[in-house]
Amino acid sequence: MTGAEPLWRQRRRQDWAAARRDAFDLCVIGGGISGAGIAWQASTHGLRTLLVEARDWAGGTSSRSSKLVHGGLRYLPHGEVRLVREVGRERELLEKLWPHLVVPLPFLIPVYRGRGMPLWLLGAGVWFYDRLTGVPQKHRRRMLGADAFREVAGFVQAVDLQGGVSYYEAVTDDARLVYTVVQAARAAGAVALSRVRAAGLTLTPRGGRVTLEDVESGEPCEVRVRAAVNAAGPWAGELDPAGRRLALARGCHLVFPREKLPIDHAIALPSPGGGNTFAVPRGSVTYVGTTDIPFVGDPALPDTPDEDVRYLLRVVRKAFPAADLSARDLLGVYSGVRPLVAGKAGRETRGLSRRRSIEVRRDGLVSVRGGKLTGFRSMAADTLRLLRRRGVRAVGRPAPAAATPPAQPPSATPLAERYHVPSCAAAELIARHGPLAEDVLRYAASRPAGLEPVVAGAKLLWGEVDWAVEREEVFELSDLLVRRTGLLWFGGLREPEEVLRPVAERIASRLGWNGDEIERQVAACRRQSHLDRLAELRSLPLEAAAAERSRAT
Ligand SMILES: Cc1cc2nc3c(=O)[nH]c(=O)nc-3n(C[C@H](O)[C@H](O)[C@H](O)COP(=O)(O)OP(=O)(O)OC[C@H]3O[C@@H](n4cnc5c(N)ncnc54)[C@H](O)[C@@H]3O)c2cc1C
Repeated sequence: MTGAEPLWRQRRRQDWAAARRDAFDLCVIGGGISGAGIAWQASTHGLRTLLVEARDWAGGTSSRSSKLVHGGLRYLPHGEVRLVREVGRERELLEKLWPHLVVPLPFLIPVYRGRGMPLWLLGAGVWFYDRLTGVPQKHRRRMLGADAFREVAGFVQAVDLQGGVSYYEAVTDDARLVYTVVQAARAAGAVALSRVRAAGLTLTPRGGRVTLEDVESGEPCEVRVRAAVNAAGPWAGELDPAGRRLALARGCHLVFPREKLPIDHAIALPSPGGGNTFAVPRGSVTYVGTTDIPFVGDPALPDTPDEDVRYLLRVVRKAFPAADLSARDLLGVYSGVRPLVAGKAGRETRGLSRRRSIEVRRDGLVSVRGGKLTGFRSMAADTLRLLRRRGVRAVGRPAPAAATPPAQPPSATPLAERYHVPSCAAAELIARHGPLAEDVLRYAASRPAGLEPVVAGAKLLWGEVDWAVEREEVFELSDLLVRRTGLLWFGGLREPEEVLRPVAERIASRLGWNGDEIERQVAACRRQSHLDRLAELRSLPLEAAAAERSRAT
């Protein structure tokens, strides 16, 4: 992999030149799921669209969520019927559009005698939920007695178990979903630039300028636009300080080896104070989350304090006593920051609505805040409707949305046989690349050791590393190992540290890194993925305190 610069670098230069030269109907600021979705919908409807992201794609909250594409059952008791109906329908649509990325998974809610909601009421609620969200017959809820529940989830706490409910939601890889939506926006004609920050806005309701800065080179650029959308998530207030206030809330997750927490369903874990904690299987790991704590700090690198880890350990130990989990079992830890629309008073964030707000400032800046990963497409549709009402519409005939049927991903077994790779490696590739999986494997087969795993047992092939470096805008090691592949959190590696240096060395020559830069990249990636924190947590006797507290509750 030597010679000319990576393909994405060539395209980025052309895109930067287009940003300097062209006028755009719309500039979308923020390349999380909200901004990517708006850029995709806008370009699909014929608007000349520019999307800019200051960090990596999904470099903010959208790579740090619980990764559930869900109708939001827990919002139903709060009367959020509209939100529940909408995100439920969105889930169905996303499963059709990207079946490799939005995958149905059975969820279980256990019910214990004398605690929480009675089984009949939960059953009735989930029955209503299924109908509201348009769940197909085969995925509708099933009521389970205690024995039936233990049959499907033998590991759960059996004392006082009365039974439970099984129903369907979907899971995703959030960062990969964002990247896929960015690619869909590009395919529909959008210019999309990561590592480009919107540094200033000079707008009027009829248009104006956005000042951009290439974070890589420091080069500035003024872009002429008819309208601008602020989709900067937790940073939305920096661009629109007088707009609706955000309440930031941290949510932490712990990752365990699947063999220590061997579940095939996502399971809701009874949590003190009505918290919302799930254990979710993903490949060779099971992750557990989340917390909901008011947050102050850098949303790009939220902390994972002892308090959150202890809380989650306590909940998971109580729910699965036979697993005897401890902090030493941890394979990963991460937090994300919810950009919630602030309530009237108080610092508590748990009760705040996950509804979105779309606001227009007097100078025409549209700011989107709040919302869910799941509802991103409909948030984008609402934003476009509002822009159309303000006269921002395509000249000529807009291209119809979803004009081509979505391509279907291949099956793992034939692919694995054809390229002589383990079927779990082929399945991972399909989960990340869908219909492109075979292209990636073909490319991998042409690379030195391209079909070999990066370390023994890893479900990441050297050839996929090369593919990402060549085509997927890998500026930094963490772009590759955290967001494009999820290897450091979800790869099931006991010592994720061990992949950092070999991977950095493999890609160094292609990205022009010298020895010092390799060291800097390894250190930055360790920080971004909380590997330093993981080492610290593994040596803390957190489970003792967690066990102490579980006995007390
Ligand atoms: C712990 C947790 C769990 C969650 N779980 C779920 C779940 O299971 N299901 C679900 O549906 N939702 C979930 N959510 C909610 C969901 O993740 C968020 O609503 C969503 O990711 C927010 O996306 P966003 O694009 O608005 O913000 P972000 O993803 O933060 O994107 C904003 C982007 O703007 C960029 N930016 C900021 N300033 C500038 C600038 N000046 N110029 C250019 N770019 C800029 C940032 O770098 C960032 O990438 C969860 C959230 C959290 C925190």
